[in-house]
Amino acid sequence: MKLVDTHCHIDRYPHPLSVLKSAEAAGVVTVAVTDLPSAYQRLSLRLGRRRLVRVALGAHPMRAGSMSPLELALFTRLVDQTDYVGEIGLDGSQHGRSSLKAQTKVFEHLLQQPRIKRKVLTVHSRGAEAQVIEALAHARVTAILHWYSGPLRHIATAVDAGLFFSVNPAMLRSKRGQRIVAELPRGRVVTETDGPYARLDGRACEPKDIASVVAGLARAWNEEEDEARDRVFRTMSDIAASARSDT
Ligand code: MN
Repeated sequence: MKLVDTHCHIDRYPHPLSVLKSAEAAGVVTVAVTDLPSAYQRLSLRLGRRRLVRVALGAHPMRAGSMSPLELALFTRLVDQTDYVGEIGLDGSQHGRSSLKAQTKVFEHLLQQPRIKRKVLTVHSRGAEAQVIEALAHARVTAILHWYSGPLRHIATAVDAGLFFSVNPAMLRSKRGQRIVAELPRGRVVTETDGPYARLDGRACEPKDIASVVAGLARAWNEEEDEARDRVFRTMSDIAASARSDT
Protein backbone atom coordinates (compact mmCIF):
# COMPACT_ATOMS: atom_id res chain seq x y z
CA MET A 1 0.00 0.00 0.00
CA LYS A 2 1.81 3.09 -1.17
CA LEU A 3 -0.57 6.01 -0.76
CA VAL A 4 -1.25 7.61 2.61
CA ASP A 5 -3.50 10.49 3.64
CA THR A 6 -1.78 11.52 6.88
CA HIS A 7 -4.44 14.06 7.88
CA CYS A 8 -8.13 13.70 7.12
CA HIS A 9 -11.18 14.60 9.23
CA ILE A 10 -13.23 11.56 8.29
CA ASP A 11 -15.82 12.33 10.99
CA ARG A 12 -16.57 15.71 9.33
CA TYR A 13 -18.01 14.37 6.07
CA PRO A 14 -21.77 13.87 5.77
CA HIS A 15 -21.10 10.25 4.66
CA PRO A 16 -17.80 9.04 6.15
CA LEU A 17 -18.26 5.44 5.07
CA SER A 18 -18.69 6.21 1.40
CA VAL A 19 -15.60 8.45 1.57
CA LEU A 20 -13.66 5.57 3.08
CA LYS A 21 -14.93 3.11 0.52
CA SER A 22 -13.60 5.31 -2.28
CA ALA A 23 -10.32 5.68 -0.38
CA GLU A 24 -10.01 1.93 -0.01
CA ALA A 25 -10.82 1.39 -3.67
CA ALA A 26 -8.01 3.84 -4.50
CA GLY A 27 -5.64 1.95 -2.17
CA VAL A 28 -5.19 4.86 0.21
CA VAL A 29 -4.41 4.40 3.90
CA THR A 30 -6.22 7.13 5.85
CA VAL A 31 -5.08 8.64 9.12
CA ALA A 32 -8.38 9.81 10.58
CA VAL A 33 -7.59 12.74 12.86
CA THR A 34 -9.98 13.80 15.61
CA ASP A 35 -10.64 17.03 17.52
CA LEU A 36 -11.11 15.62 21.02
CA PRO A 37 -10.34 12.39 22.90
CA SER A 38 -14.06 11.64 23.18
CA ALA A 39 -14.36 11.97 19.39
CA TYR A 40 -11.40 9.60 19.02
CA GLN A 41 -13.18 7.12 21.25
CA ARG A 42 -16.34 7.23 19.13
CA LEU A 43 -14.52 7.08 15.82
CA SER A 44 -12.23 4.22 16.78
CA LEU A 45 -15.24 2.19 17.89
CA ARG A 46 -16.80 2.87 14.53
CA LEU A 47 -13.81 2.56 12.20
CA GLY A 48 -10.88 1.22 14.19
CA ARG A 49 -11.10 -2.24 12.68
CA ARG A 50 -10.94 -1.18 9.06
CA ARG A 51 -7.69 -2.34 7.51
CA LEU A 52 -6.84 0.94 5.79
CA VAL A 53 -7.81 3.33 8.60
CA ARG A 54 -5.66 4.59 11.47
CA VAL A 55 -7.63 6.66 13.96
CA ALA A 56 -5.55 9.42 15.57
CA LEU A 57 -6.10 10.72 19.09
CA GLY A 58 -6.61 14.48 18.93
CA ALA A 59 -7.00 17.65 20.93
CA HIS A 60 -7.51 20.30 18.25
CA PRO A 61 -6.12 23.74 19.12
CA MET A 62 -9.48 25.40 18.43
CA ARG A 63 -11.05 23.03 20.98
CA ALA A 64 -8.11 22.72 23.37
CA GLY A 65 -8.72 26.11 24.96
CA SER A 66 -12.02 24.93 26.40
CA MET A 67 -11.12 21.27 26.94
CA SER A 68 -12.44 19.82 30.19
CA PRO A 69 -10.15 18.08 32.70
CA LEU A 70 -12.11 14.94 31.88
CA GLU A 71 -11.13 15.14 28.20
CA LEU A 72 -7.49 15.74 29.14
CA ALA A 73 -7.52 12.70 31.40
CA LEU A 74 -9.13 10.70 28.62
CA PHE A 75 -6.23 11.60 26.34
CA THR A 76 -3.77 10.05 28.78
CA ARG A 77 -5.93 6.99 29.19
CA LEU A 78 -6.33 6.38 25.45
CA VAL A 79 -2.89 7.27 24.12
CA ASP A 80 -1.63 3.69 24.15
CA GLN A 81 -4.48 2.50 21.92
CA THR A 82 -3.08 4.18 18.82
CA ASP A 83 0.18 4.93 16.97
CA TYR A 84 -1.13 8.32 15.78
CA VAL A 85 -1.80 11.55 17.64
CA GLY A 86 -3.63 14.48 16.00
CA GLU A 87 -4.91 16.91 15.35
CA ILE A 88 -3.00 18.76 18.03
CA GLY A 89 -1.03 22.00 17.96
CA LEU A 90 -1.47 25.74 18.31
CA ASP A 91 -3.44 28.36 16.41
CA GLY A 92 -2.18 31.92 16.77
CA SER A 93 -4.16 33.31 13.83
CA GLN A 94 -7.06 35.73 14.34
CA HIS A 95 -9.29 32.69 14.93
CA GLY A 96 -7.25 31.24 17.76
CA ARG A 97 -5.34 34.13 19.22
CA SER A 98 -7.70 34.77 22.14
CA SER A 99 -7.27 31.21 23.44
CA LEU A 100 -3.57 30.81 22.63
CA LYS A 101 -2.53 30.80 26.27
CA ALA A 102 -4.98 28.04 27.16
CA GLN A 103 -4.05 26.12 24.00
CA THR A 104 -0.38 26.32 24.94
CA LYS A 105 -1.07 24.82 28.36
CA VAL A 106 -2.84 21.83 26.80
CA PHE A 107 -0.26 21.36 24.03
CA GLU A 108 2.65 21.43 26.50
CA HIS A 109 0.82 18.99 28.73
CA LEU A 110 0.35 16.55 25.83
CA LEU A 111 3.98 16.84 24.76
CA GLN A 112 5.18 16.12 28.26
CA GLN A 113 3.60 12.68 28.33
CA PRO A 114 6.46 10.21 28.00
CA ARG A 115 4.48 7.85 25.78
CA ILE A 116 3.91 10.48 23.13
CA LYS A 117 7.49 9.92 21.91
CA ARG A 118 6.40 6.60 20.45
CA LYS A 119 3.64 8.18 18.36
CA VAL A 120 3.42 9.89 15.00
CA LEU A 121 2.03 13.39 15.58
CA THR A 122 0.14 15.44 12.99
CA VAL A 123 0.34 19.06 14.07
CA HIS A 124 -1.45 22.34 13.35
CA SER A 125 0.72 25.49 13.52
CA ARG A 126 -1.18 28.32 11.79
CA GLY A 127 -0.01 31.69 13.08
CA ALA A 128 2.13 30.06 15.77
CA GLU A 129 4.74 28.34 13.63
CA ALA A 130 7.87 29.33 15.56
CA GLN A 131 6.31 28.39 18.88
CA VAL A 132 5.08 25.01 17.62
CA ILE A 133 8.42 24.11 16.03
CA GLU A 134 10.24 25.04 19.22
CA ALA A 135 7.91 22.98 21.40
CA LEU A 136 8.19 19.92 19.13
CA ALA A 137 11.99 20.23 18.94
CA HIS A 138 12.21 20.50 22.70
CA ALA A 139 9.94 17.48 23.23
CA ARG A 140 11.96 15.41 20.72
CA VAL A 141 8.87 13.87 19.17
CA THR A 142 8.20 12.46 15.70
CA ALA A 143 5.91 15.02 14.13
CA ILE A 144 4.44 16.06 10.80
CA LEU A 145 3.67 19.76 10.36
CA HIS A 146 0.33 19.61 8.60
CA TRP A 147 -0.49 22.26 5.93
CA TYR A 148 2.47 24.42 6.91
CA SER A 149 1.67 27.97 5.81
CA GLY A 150 4.09 30.02 7.89
CA PRO A 151 7.17 32.05 7.03
CA LEU A 152 9.74 30.32 4.83
CA ARG A 153 12.48 31.18 7.29
CA HIS A 154 11.18 28.74 9.92
CA ILE A 155 11.41 25.76 7.59
CA ALA A 156 15.14 25.24 8.15
CA THR A 157 14.61 25.26 11.92
CA ALA A 158 11.90 22.61 11.57
CA VAL A 159 14.13 20.50 9.33
CA ASP A 160 17.00 20.74 11.83
CA ALA A 161 14.58 19.53 14.50
CA GLY A 162 13.85 16.44 12.38
CA LEU A 163 10.27 17.44 11.60
CA PHE A 164 8.25 16.36 8.56
CA PHE A 165 5.66 18.20 6.44
CA SER A 166 2.40 17.05 4.89
CA VAL A 167 1.30 18.66 1.64
CA ASN A 168 -2.29 18.82 0.34
CA PRO A 169 -4.01 19.72 -2.96
CA ALA A 170 -4.81 23.28 -1.83
CA MET A 171 -1.11 23.96 -1.15
CA LEU A 172 -0.11 22.63 -4.56
CA ARG A 173 -2.63 24.96 -6.23
CA SER A 174 -1.67 28.21 -4.49
CA LYS A 175 1.40 30.32 -5.33
CA ARG A 176 2.26 30.60 -1.66
CA GLY A 177 1.90 26.85 -1.13
CA GLN A 178 4.11 26.16 -4.13
CA ARG A 179 6.79 28.47 -2.68
CA ILE A 180 6.67 26.48 0.54
CA VAL A 181 6.79 23.10 -1.22
CA ALA A 182 9.86 24.26 -3.15
CA GLU A 183 11.64 24.95 0.16
CA LEU A 184 10.94 21.56 1.73
CA PRO A 185 13.63 18.86 1.54
CA ARG A 186 12.15 16.05 -0.57
CA GLY A 187 12.89 13.44 2.07
CA ARG A 188 10.70 15.25 4.62
CA VAL A 189 7.49 15.48 2.62
CA VAL A 190 4.39 13.29 2.91
CA THR A 191 0.82 13.67 1.68
CA GLU A 192 -2.50 14.73 3.23
CA THR A 193 -5.87 16.09 2.18
CA ASP A 194 -7.14 17.87 5.32
CA GLY A 195 -10.50 16.89 3.93
CA PRO A 196 -13.20 18.02 4.07
CA TYR A 197 -11.68 21.42 4.91
CA ALA A 198 -9.28 21.60 1.98
CA ARG A 199 -11.05 21.89 -1.37
CA LEU A 200 -10.30 20.70 -4.88
CA ASP A 201 -12.22 21.85 -7.96
CA GLY A 202 -15.04 23.26 -5.85
CA ARG A 203 -15.59 20.15 -3.73
CA ALA A 204 -14.19 18.82 -0.47
CA CYS A 205 -10.94 16.87 -0.82
CA GLU A 206 -11.07 13.18 0.01
CA PRO A 207 -8.39 10.58 0.71
CA LYS A 208 -8.94 9.18 -2.78
CA ASP A 209 -7.32 12.44 -4.04
CA ILE A 210 -3.92 11.48 -2.63
CA ALA A 211 -2.78 10.23 -6.04
CA SER A 212 -3.24 13.77 -7.35
CA VAL A 213 -1.12 15.13 -4.50
CA VAL A 214 1.64 12.69 -5.47
CA ALA A 215 1.28 13.85 -9.08
CA GLY A 216 1.60 17.47 -7.93
CA LEU A 217 4.74 16.64 -5.97
CA ALA A 218 6.19 14.83 -8.97
CA ARG A 219 5.67 18.02 -11.03
CA ALA A 220 7.22 20.17 -8.30
CA TRP A 221 10.19 17.80 -8.06
CA ASN A 222 10.48 17.35 -11.80
CA GLU A 223 10.40 13.57 -11.57
CA GLU A 224 8.16 10.67 -12.59
CA GLU A 225 5.03 9.99 -10.53
CA ASP A 226 6.22 6.56 -9.44
CA GLU A 227 9.50 8.08 -8.22
CA ALA A 228 7.59 10.63 -6.16
CA ARG A 229 5.27 7.93 -4.83
CA ASP A 230 8.21 5.72 -3.80
CA ARG A 231 9.97 8.68 -2.21
CA VAL A 232 6.93 9.63 -0.12
CA PHE A 233 6.47 5.99 0.84
CA ARG A 234 10.09 5.77 2.03
CA THR A 235 9.55 8.94 4.05
CA MET A 236 6.47 7.37 5.68
CA SER A 237 8.69 4.41 6.63
CA ASP A 238 11.27 6.83 8.08
CA ILE A 239 8.51 8.45 10.14
CA ALA A 240 7.33 5.11 11.50
CA ALA A 241 10.91 4.06 12.30
CA SER A 242 11.56 7.36 14.05
CA ALA A 243 8.49 6.92 16.27
CA ARG A 244 9.53 3.38 17.13
CA SER A 245 13.11 4.35 17.98
CA ASP A 246 12.02 6.87 20.65
CA THR A 247 15.32 8.75 20.79
MN1 MN B 1 -7.04 19.57 10.00
